[in-house]
Amino acid sequence: MPQQAYLAQIGGQPVLILPEGTVRSTGRDAQKANIAAAKAVADIVRTTLGPKGMDKMLVDSIGDITITNDGVTILEEMEVEHPAAKMMVEVAKTQNEEVGDGTTTAVILAGELLKRAETLLDQEIHPTVITKGYQLAKEEALRVLDELAIPIKIDDTETLKKIVVTSMSGKSGKEAAPKIAELIIEAVRTVAEVKNGKLKIDKDNIKRVKKHGASVEETQLVRGIIVDKEIVHPQMPKTIKNAKIALLDCPLEIEKTETDAQIRITSPEQLQAFLEQEQKMLREMVNKIAAVGANVVFCEKGIDDLAQHYLAKKGIAACRRIKRSDLEALAKATGARIVSNLDDLTEKDLGYAELVEERKIAGEAMTFVMGCKNPKAVTILVRGSTEHVVDEIDRNVEDGIGALVSALESGKIVPGAGAIEAELARRIREFAEKFSGREQLAIQEFANALEIVPRTLAENAGLDPIDILVELRAAHEQGKINYGIDVFSGKIVDALEAGIIEPLKVKSQAIKSAAEAAEMILRIDDVIAASRIGKEEKEKGKKTETPSEEY
Ligand code: ADP
Ligand code: MG
Repeated sequence: MPQQAYLAQIGGQPVLILPEGTVRSTGRDAQKANIAAAKAVADIVRTTLGPKGMDKMLVDSIGDITITNDGVTILEEMEVEHPAAKMMVEVAKTQNEEVGDGTTTAVILAGELLKRAETLLDQEIHPTVITKGYQLAKEEALRVLDELAIPIKIDDTETLKKIVVTSMSGKSGKEAAPKIAELIIEAVRTVAEVKNGKLKIDKDNIKRVKKHGASVEETQLVRGIIVDKEIVHPQMPKTIKNAKIALLDCPLEIEKTETDAQIRITSPEQLQAFLEQEQKMLREMVNKIAAVGANVVFCEKGIDDLAQHYLAKKGIAACRRIKRSDLEALAKATGARIVSNLDDLTEKDLGYAELVEERKIAGEAMTFVMGCKNPKAVTILVRGSTEHVVDEIDRNVEDGIGALVSALESGKIVPGAGAIEAELARRIREFAEKFSGREQLAIQEFANALEIVPRTLAENAGLDPIDILVELRAAHEQGKINYGIDVFSGKIVDALEAGIIEPLKVKSQAIKSAAEAAEMILRIDDVIAASRIGKEEKEKGKKTETPSEEY
């Protein structure tokens, strides 16, 4: 029962310490409520895990539909309210930012750790004992994980391909996964750099552009930047070799005055002069661009019809209303500097590309900038039949890139399909023997919680999770440490041999953030929530006050 929080007692006299309407819950109530909320979040994404996981359809407040299997996308779109549930969403977001894959795994692991903590709480084990046990188990898990991990090399194409395909197998478009995997490997190899003996891969150098209207197999890698805009004027060249590129974030228009202005024109001569003045200004703008030697212009703002005409006459191609992020990508790729004032434009500000070309993709013109000064700029043009499909394939490609980059940066992999979790569970159960009493119970529960991954993979594949877990445990007892579940045949197999491989970091980060979130939620024994109604009323009050202040 939430209690009224603002009362303290002095000699039987209630004293207000918090605003009216504040809701407070303490002790076991607070813990139960938090755990229930966190478990609810985990239960939502559970059915999406693995290649046989289902998708979710999310409809937002304006009716836009997202169909996805991606843990973090589901949770972000859901607009979760409960504070503990929000912490679970954070787990997914952290996983996504740090690794870019394994979001569902992290969330269901956190949910399972909390579920098992609840049974320990019911046995009157104090939360601090549970969190201590979880911490010990987490450290041991990370240690063993590192011990079990297998090194890989950037030139081992076959293994890299398996990593990407495993990471993409959870979502739709898996038929095209092997082909897309090759594109991703090529893209990642292109942007990879060795710095101080360490492999560094800047994921931002790999741009993704989505375009529906073709099958997933048409997804392609372009060495350069694709801008989703056409060349504005039909008389401009559509193919420019040895492009000298100007990037502008000022308009090529005569700016209209903000306030209403009246210009009295009393004679045709005056009108003529006025129009000529405008033409002259636009022509001067174009002359400046031509004078520095640019033959391509990308402009963040608008380009006046007349300016387009003058540019076309000078043989300069131009695109307008370029997104800021595209302009920045172009700057990085071509070595150009973004110029805000045409008077500042010099030859040095221009960027270079071997070829700028307008191409028709699915009936729409897009501008390709290829052979850039910086060869590390690549774009994956993601294709799919409809917008919803392309969006999901794009998330899939993002996961594939994330998995590959983290595998290469840490240089280590582990078997997937629940194999690594099953082995970790076994090792941590052994580790628990070293401890006595309640701490041992907590460590054992941590081990059991890890088995949520093979259990869920089995459940989602329509297999009997108990049978499979028994079989899996037996295999691991016999030293078959890489055995996991082949969800297609329903049998347990050596995951490495079956090519189900994941980066070490996907697993270590998932265990880290899941354990930390569970510990944090368990430590809370008091939730004090300010009254929402109070806040709304205050805001309303403010609004009605303002007009009276004006007079
Ligand atoms: P996440 O958001 O956690 O990455 P996914 O839906 O991508 O969730 O599922 C990942 C899980 O599916 C991993 O545990 C991975 O090992 C497993 N997996 C991937 N491919 C297979 C496969 N062919 N057979 C069994 N398990 C697989
Ligand atoms: Mg995945």
